[in-house]
Order: sequence, then structure tokens, then C-alpha cells
Amino acid sequence: MVRSLKNHSYEEMQQWAVDAGFAPYTGRQIFEWLFRHFTEDTSEMLNIKKEVRSHIAEYGPLRLLDILEHESGGDGGTDKFLFQCLDGKAVESVLIRSQKRVTLCVSSQVGCAMNCAFCRTADMGFIRDLSAGEILEQYVQVQRLSEEKISNVVFMGMGEPFNNFEQSVRAALVLNHEKGPQIAARHITFSTSGIVPKIREFAHLPYQFKLAISLNAATNRIRDLLMPVNRRYPLEELLDAAKYYVQTTNRHLTFEYVLIKDVNNGDKDAAELMRLLRPIPCKLNVIPFNETGASYRRPDEKDISRFLGALSAAVFPVTLRLSGGRGINAACGQLYHEVLRK
Ligand code: SAH
Repeated sequence: MVRSLKNHSYEEMQQWAVDAGFAPYTGRQIFEWLFRHFTEDTSEMLNIKKEVRSHIAEYGPLRLLDILEHESGGDGGTDKFLFQCLDGKAVESVLIRSQKRVTLCVSSQVGCAMNCAFCRTADMGFIRDLSAGEILEQYVQVQRLSEEKISNVVFMGMGEPFNNFEQSVRAALVLNHEKGPQIAARHITFSTSGIVPKIREFAHLPYQFKLAISLNAATNRIRDLLMPVNRRYPLEELLDAAKYYVQTTNRHLTFEYVLIKDVNNGDKDAAELMRLLRPIPCKLNVIPFNETGASYRRPDEKDISRFLGALSAAVFPVTLRLSGGRGINAACGQLYHEVLRK
């Protein structure tokens, strides 16, 4: 991992200052320069002594990612950013505007190890974890460019955040920090493909971050086909962990369900979903499959309405996510970049 102050928590920033022979408030000021003012040039840190500034510069780089490309979806709703890390690896983030919020979807890893059959990121394979600083840097770079304030952050880009748990939570704590971006904890969502022990661990964190689970099937037979993680943590264990999360935190969670034509969009699937989720206080977010080059197909409007109709007796709310950015491959499941090697 590249050594950088961008990986430091608020407390660690103060300790860093003390260890370097300065006052703790110097660390607090640096934190604000980095995460409130998005400064990456120490000469702009006007309230910081010159000798401290040279220390900062020597410690490690402050700019961890460069924007290589910025594409707009054309609909005014979605922008995709391609970043290059210092080691040449590439990751993407997506900015999504809706009436009520501006959401940044960040990557937690370069590539992904989960190998879900319907997801384009799987084609990259797993390359490496991102550091907390690299996760935060996606936010910092996009927020610097953007006039609108990012109100929500979702860990739904490339990678499995629960396989990079510590760095992802560390990044979220900085995003939430009152001296930093001040994004409400309830506006930060972690999405997991179903890493059961980490769902249980997440339940015990003393923060109000939200949880989403990519369910995508109502039977082990179909989930095994779509998501290899199901062979390790089958539905029963996953749903037990979801119940445990709700009981422990007293909070709802969201299940995501990628709707794939002739794979999981039947009346039977809907009935089974209602049976499975009935005991869990939750919301179901149905995401019609976005094209990835895989042999799966997106259900047409009629199939989608039929599936939603079949769920009309559900005791939990059902929402439909019509991902923007399909034209620029920025929608759910479409993030991919040729592996850049140096
Ligand atoms: N690895 C985590 C974070 C990624 S979230 C997770 O799996 O939850 C990305 C979301 O997009 C997941 O809910 C996933 O199921 C969904 N998705 C993946 N491929 C898709 C596709 N082709 N069309 C629609 N949604 C897709």
C-alpha cells in the first residue's frame, strides 16, 4: 500500500502530528485541508507552518488517483469517471443524480474475486484491494469537480467491500466525519454479495451505515449458478445473517435482485422471494439486468411488470431501479476496464 496521509483517520492524523513533534491541532488542520477543502498541494495549507508542510510532502503523495476519463451519460443523470492509481491500475466511479440526492458509487477493489455470472467486473478478475485513501480519493476528485454536493455514497462499484472490510469502513468513517465531508452515516451504503461472517461483523459496528445484500435468486439452485459465493454461504446462512443484522441493529436492510429474463423472473421466483423475505424487515430493490456481453438477457417491460405484479402481495416494499448510464456502460454490473499493467 502506498504510504499516504490520505489513509489516516482523524485520530491518526493528530497522532502523526504529535509523533512529528507538532501539536495535535496541526493534525486536525491537515485533515480539514485534505477532506474538507480537497487540497493536495501543501503550499495552499496556509495555516500550517512551512516545516510541517515539508514533512507532509515527504511522508507520501497526497494525490492517489488521476482522472483518466470523464463521460456523461447524456441524460444529465449519470457521469462515469475512470481513475488511474499510482501503480497504473484502473478503477471507476459513477455519479448518479436524482431529484432528491446526488450519489457517488465508489469502487472498493481493482477488479473483483466474486465471479458473478451476470457482472462485467468479474471479467477483470481480482487484481488488488484499494486502500482507504484510494476509496476516499474517488470522492475527493469527483466532489472537487462537481458543483453539486454529493449527498450519498454507495459501495457498489467494482469489488466486494466486505472482502476489503477494514479499508472500506475506514473510508466511510472519514466520509462521515464532522471535520471532513460530513456525509450522514445513513447516507452511506455497503453492498455485499453475501460474505456472511462480515455481515455479522458489520452488525456490531457502532455506526449507522446502511446494508444492502445482492440476493439475485430465491433458490440455492439458481443462486449457485449466478453467484459462486452461494456455494460457500448458501441462502439459509445468508438470510440468517440478514436476520441477525436486523435484530442486532434494529435497522432494515435492502435486498438487491438483478432481474434476468428466463432465469429468475418467473411467478415462482416471486412467490419464493415473498416466502423467504417475509420474516425479515427489509426492502427489495429489483434491478433489470443491464447488458454486459454475457449471454443473459434483460426482461422486457412486460416481464418486469409481471414480476412486480407477482410481488404485489409482498409484506415488504418493492422498488424498481432503472439504472442510468447504460449508454456509457456506467450502470450496475457494467463497470469494467482493461487491466492496465505497468
Ligand atoms: N460486490 C458487491 C458490490 C457491488 S454492487 C455486491 O455484489 O453487492 C453491484 C450491484 O449490481 C449488485 O447488486 C449486483 O448484483 C448488481 N449487478 C451486477 N451485474 C449486473 C447487471 N448486469 N445488471 C444489473 N445489475 C447488476
